[in-house]
Amino acid sequence: MEKIMKALVYHGPHKLSLDDVPVPTIQAPEDVILKVTLATPCTSDVHIAEGHIPFVPYPIILGHEFCGEIVEMGSAVTGFKVGDRVHCLPGVICNQCAMCKIGYPSFCQNGGCYGNFEGLNGALAEYVRIPYAMNSMIHIPEGLVEEDVILLGDMLGTARFGVENAEVKKGDTVAVFGVGPVGLCACLLAKNVYEAKTVIAVDIVQDRLDAALKEGIVDYAFNPNDVDVVRKIKEITERRGVNAAIETAGVQSTINMAARSVGVGGIVSTISLFAKPLELPLDLMPNRNIQLKTGIQQCEGVDSMLEEIQAGRINTRFMLTHRSPLNDIMKAMDIFGGNKEGCIKYLITPYER
Ligand SMILES: [Zn+2]
Ligand SMILES: [Zn+2]
Repeated sequence: MEKIMKALVYHGPHKLSLDDVPVPTIQAPEDVILKVTLATPCTSDVHIAEGHIPFVPYPIILGHEFCGEIVEMGSAVTGFKVGDRVHCLPGVICNQCAMCKIGYPSFCQNGGCYGNFEGLNGALAEYVRIPYAMNSMIHIPEGLVEEDVILLGDMLGTARFGVENAEVKKGDTVAVFGVGPVGLCACLLAKNVYEAKTVIAVDIVQDRLDAALKEGIVDYAFNPNDVDVVRKIKEITERRGVNAAIETAGVQSTINMAARSVGVGGIVSTISLFAKPLELPLDLMPNRNIQLKTGIQQCEGVDSMLEEIQAGRINTRFMLTHRSPLNDIMKAMDIFGGNKEGCIKYLITPYER
């Protein structure tokens, strides 16, 4: 008899519901079935729900940031066993296709992000199927729990990509425009791992700026509603501008501020996905030799960041502001998606019967 579970299903723009759906089963020898032990919605789940990402097929179960316990394994899976607790990267990596082979696993032709592509249901559910599981599951090391690593694959992975593209070095001054979860991770990495001297956070949500200051991962926090951010940054840097600007909000105003804040030879690194075309302030960029870098993370640096978590230099627990069982996922999507109640990340624990 088919087993049934609860899952957050996207049925098209503005149509989300917590449904009863079949529990996934092993379909290929490389598959693993995980019992989801902790998950968290991503801002991109909110964008999907609002209909901003039109290529996403439906019905589909959302969610690509998660940890789980292995309950079933295909015959080809080695190095793991039933009962193991793992964190999973946000997308499927086959390691066999042309994209995986040239170092772009996030564009895997046999994979993609969970909850974004046909046949790839996500993890805001009681169970999730992981294709090519050995390439994307990471054992949760002894001494760590789900809450320590839940942001590793997506938030920290994306932030690290932005910081690497920004070529942040010891002693640099870095401004981060948009300090939602990814932006906060970028501040944390720039300060604690890449040893930037000065990190400046910019956002219109004061709660996030306050969280960044309180956590000690930024030196300055500016709200464009209160101050002239570019002028403040010029003051701090004695008119030179910052070495790098990391842009995570994907709107015209943050792109403009980022381009204006960077000094000669600096880099604007954007890790946003843009819902519509924006103007690039090219009048500001060539005459100061500013580079612009864009892209999607390729799951690099996960092992080293896991070591930094174990060493205590990366600690994202201050972002885990909310927590509910899967039963309350609709409320969670509303609070997280609407930036309500100072929510930074909303953890989802297993469904309670
Ligand atoms: Zn995501
Ligand atoms: Zn591939």
